[in-house]
Amino acid sequence: MIIILMGAPGSGKGTQSKRLVEYFGIPHLSTGDMLREAQKQPTEAGRKIAACIDSGRLVSDELILTLVEERLSHPACQLGCLLDGVPRTTVQAERLDELFRRKNWTLDHVIALCVPQAELVRRLLARATVEGRADDTPDTISQRMEVYQRQTAPLLDFFRSRGLLREVDAVGSPDDVFRRVLSMVNQQTQGSSTRN
Ligand code: ADP
Repeated sequence: MIIILMGAPGSGKGTQSKRLVEYFGIPHLSTGDMLREAQKQPTEAGRKIAACIDSGRLVSDELILTLVEERLSHPACQLGCLLDGVPRTTVQAERLDELFRRKNWTLDHVIALCVPQAELVRRLLARATVEGRADDTPDTISQRMEVYQRQTAPLLDFFRSRGLLREVDAVGSPDDVFRRVLSMVNQQTQGSSTRN
C-alpha cells in the first residue's frame, strides 16, 4: 500500500499520518520530520535547511529527492509506505512517479486533507503556543500558505486526472477525520478490486 498524504500547513497531516501508518502497518516517511532532524547538523547543509524551514520556503528538489529515494530503498518500505509532505512540487511529483515505475510499485491513494484557509491559520497559531515550532510564526505561516497555493496545490489536478485523488473534509475531531479518510480509502479500494 503506497499512500501520499497531501494538505496545506495545519491541515492535520501529522496527526492523520500517525493513525494511517498504524492502521496499515506501513512506514511513515515525513519530509518535514526528516528535515527537522537534518537541520540540527552543525554543517553548511544543516544551516541551509534551517534557513528554509524558518522562513517557510521549500528546500531544493534535489535534496528532497535524495533523502526520499534513500529512505524508499530501505527494506521496510518494500511493502509500502506513507509519504507525508512529499511531493510538494511538480518536479518532485514527476521524479517520484518515475521512481515508482522503475520499482514497479503502484501508488494506491493520494489523500488530500481539505480545510478552509481561516481554520488553517487558527490551528497553526494555536499550535505555536503549544508546540513552539519555529516556523509557526504569523509571517512564516503566511509564507508557507503562499508556497502551498503556488507550488503544491497544482499537484492536486495532476493526481485527480489520474484517478488517484481522495479529497477528505478535514474539519472536525482527529477521530472523525480519520473515519472519513478510511471510508474514502476503503470505498476506492473496493471499487478498484471489483473493476479488476
Ligand atoms: P507543514 O506542512 O506544516 O508546512 P512540514 O513539517 O511538512 O510542515 O514541513 C516543514 C518545512 O519543511 C516546509 O515549510 C519546508 O521548508 C520543508 N519541507 C518539507 N517537505 C518538503 C518538500 N517535499 N520539499 C521542499 N521542502 C520541504
